[in-house]
Amino acid sequence: MLLNLPSKTHEARQAKLRARIEKQELALLVVTNPRNIFYLTGFRGSAGVAAWGASDAALWVDPRYTLQARDEAKGIEVIDEKGSLLKAVARWLRKKKPRRVGFEDGHLTCSEFRLLERVSRGSFKFEPASGIIEALRFVKDRDEIARIREASRVTVEAFEEILPLVKPGVKESELAAEIEYRMRRKGADGPAFDTIVASGRRGAFPHARASNKVLGKSELVIFDMGAILSGYASDMTRTLYLGQPGGRIKRLYNAVLEAQHMAVESLRQGVRGGEVDEAARGVLSRRGLANFFTHSTGHGVGLDIHEKPRLGKGDKTRLEVGCVVTAEPGVYIEGLGGIRLEDTVVVGSEGPEVLTTAAKSGWCIS
Ligand code: ZN
Ligand code: ZN
Repeated sequence: MLLNLPSKTHEARQAKLRARIEKQELALLVVTNPRNIFYLTGFRGSAGVAAWGASDAALWVDPRYTLQARDEAKGIEVIDEKGSLLKAVARWLRKKKPRRVGFEDGHLTCSEFRLLERVSRGSFKFEPASGIIEALRFVKDRDEIARIREASRVTVEAFEEILPLVKPGVKESELAAEIEYRMRRKGADGPAFDTIVASGRRGAFPHARASNKVLGKSELVIFDMGAILSGYASDMTRTLYLGQPGGRIKRLYNAVLEAQHMAVESLRQGVRGGEVDEAARGVLSRRGLANFFTHSTGHGVGLDIHEKPRLGKGDKTRLEVGCVVTAEPGVYIEGLGGIRLEDTVVVGSEGPEVLTTAAKSGWCIS
């Protein structure tokens, strides 16, 4: 069963974290991002605070989660706390007398941070330390890739199943609901984000949510969807056309198809995020479409639907074997609509592997 990783996986991740904490000269790290807690321990509750030091680690949960945490969390002491979790953490920290304590500044509200500071009575220094765990999550291990592969398979199957329903007269929201329902029936925890079905002129808004608009004849329709399965996300976009497209639409579609192919092909060990972006953007620029491609080419996918690395203009990050990213160029034209194609791709030792395998040919439905 994919959900229960052997505890040595979590212990190995925690050992790596300890090495990073030490390298940053922190005595302890307070972790409040639930996805990071899940990554390190396997605990999937939505509330909890954890702290790691050189030799000890503890996870505070409220009584709703005590049994679940004892069952799921590996390599960490679970502490049941009826009062404020952060106050309990601060009291624990005070006893340890650390010099410098890291906290996830990207994931703690200002008032939560003030509470931590107040209860710790200035006995040590808090250091912003967001990104330490995200850096560990950058390269996925075998189990993580297996989960993203499953999430991708479910996404592809749900999309292929709803294809017969795509016709003039059906509402965008009905199609989005059908996709999400099918993903859940196939074992998804839920959609990774609100499924996008954007038809006609609405397709020109890159992140339009599915509305009550009815699909019309001779319209482009963008489907952007993904499932979460065993905690991991997938992300895929396909664009269809209802009818027989004219020359302009065909040229636009083929330009995006080629741009997406070039981006996928560039996903190799050592390539910089900016180079992947350029691979796609160059194709569209040479066809005079640069101004219609208004977002970056891709992003990392894992526990979060959008995570590092960013594949955007000028991004210097180098990809490594085991990174999982999207390649998703598009063109958006006011009054006409949009075309975007997106796949979730693993950077493999032998080259890129596309996980979202739904066809991109046969995009015209008549
Ligand atoms: Zn997407
Ligand atoms: Zn995406």
